[in-house]
Amino acid sequence: MIPHFDLLLRGGLVVDGTAAPDAARSADVGVLAGRLTLLPPGAPAGSRHTEDVTGLVVAPGFIDVHTHSDGVTLIDGEVGGDMVQAAVLQGVTTEICGNCGSSLFPALPERLAAMRAESRVYFGGDVGMYEGFAEFAAAHAAVPRANHLASLVGHGTLRAGVIGPVDRAATPGELETMCALLDRALSAGAAGLSSGLIYTPGTYASTDEVVALAAVAAGHGKPYVTHLRDEMSRVEEALEEAVEIARRSGAPLHVSHHKTAGKYAWGRTERTLPRIAGLRAEGMDVTCDVYPYTAGSTALGAMLPPWASDGGVSALMARLADPGQRDRMRRAIAEGVPGWENTVGNGGWDRISIACAPRHPETEGHTIAELAATRGQDPLDVAAALLVAERGEVTIISHSMIEDDVRRVLAAPYSMIGSDGVPKPGGRPHPRWAGTFPRVLGHYTRELGLLDLETAVHKMTGMAAARFGLTGRGVISDGAHADLVVFDPGSIADGATFAAPLVPPTGVHSVIVAGESVVRDGAQTGARPGTVLAT
Ligand SMILES: [Zn+2]
Repeated sequence: MIPHFDLLLRGGLVVDGTAAPDAARSADVGVLAGRLTLLPPGAPAGSRHTEDVTGLVVAPGFIDVHTHSDGVTLIDGEVGGDMVQAAVLQGVTTEICGNCGSSLFPALPERLAAMRAESRVYFGGDVGMYEGFAEFAAAHAAVPRANHLASLVGHGTLRAGVIGPVDRAATPGELETMCALLDRALSAGAAGLSSGLIYTPGTYASTDEVVALAAVAAGHGKPYVTHLRDEMSRVEEALEEAVEIARRSGAPLHVSHHKTAGKYAWGRTERTLPRIAGLRAEGMDVTCDVYPYTAGSTALGAMLPPWASDGGVSALMARLADPGQRDRMRRAIAEGVPGWENTVGNGGWDRISIACAPRHPETEGHTIAELAATRGQDPLDVAAALLVAERGEVTIISHSMIEDDVRRVLAAPYSMIGSDGVPKPGGRPHPRWAGTFPRVLGHYTRELGLLDLETAVHKMTGMAAARFGLTGRGVISDGAHADLVVFDPGSIADGATFAAPLVPPTGVHSVIVAGESVVRDGAQTGARPGTVLAT
């Protein structure tokens, strides 16, 4: 009997997402009821739609393991745009959000309103805050997405959701409540635990607190995913803290956006990567992700010492308005504070440029040092004034890394690709949001030969699905979910630059989510088959 499909892709080179020796081979791919069937080239088959993809690669849809897209569709109504497009036009069919310690759940019901107000700073709009994973998934079901979303549970969110945004240790009872909320979220389908130990309120936590929470993740066989406490001059100590947390808790360890940034840490991947490789050789389950750029991006408020944010956004605003407190901050940046990363002290205000400041677009694209020189003011005072004027909602780009380190992490056999995109309406966000995956395939794979095509695709698909428990995704095999991307390996390239950060990539022909085309001939179709995935 001749099989009949909803969609049939004929003549392509299948790169199946695995690390197998025959990961790339000629095959036709049939899609029926959201599932895949592989066929020998030219095998007899019928289909409602047939696409000739001769000369193109058919790969599993990319899985972006590191995003902050938690609320992009939830604020769409407010900004009137489609902020999922930066991801889907690259071929990303699943985004993992809830990274760096910040997710949109869980919290005690009595803390939800206060957290909703605080979360504007991080998520760029009112995206709501949810008691648990089920409520988070239900909010998304009401506003469907073009691609799928899976979410980690943020340690900072757990802390804010139980203790509040304050600089103190958790009591035993509070820690027990945090563990219970985490356990419930992981049972309901959240993908793991994330921490952001440079960010408030996560940075207020001791190692022991994180061990207790990571042990809950370990009980579910889900990873502890961490933005290390320091990615700059003390990156090796911070990596050792993560290793200790993984050892004591038993959780698999995943290091987010691994980098060794700031002039004192340049070249240090020559030590961190062999350390990780050694741990893996000993049998420890440790992996990492990376984005293909030498600049990072985060909140301007993260340039300030942690005590400045004790008490939350309104407490920070009050301190920023006080000249004496600003002098304390200036001294902390000049001299350092034990246990605090201090991005500006490791680089300088001339490496920090404004990405998004919605009420002051004239500052976007300029460094804090430039703005200070133009105004004849001290850089800290410029940053403070902007934070106050924007109620803390300012993102920055930090030009803090060197190319050799980025290439070493990309080439590591256990690194996967995560954009770390910071979705914001308007402004000049980091181009990684719109360019990461085509940049790895075009610049680093085709042009530089740093990776072969099968390895690059594996890092974006099968490796990521295995790490985050996305069963039946990240591979092209009979019965797998029909999330696919079709691209031209000879022309795929990122279009996004720091000057024009939202220019879509070239060479991505079609993107299929749950068997439906969301991108055809490089343009969105308007279909929204994406769902929140439980793992
Ligand atoms: Zn991070």
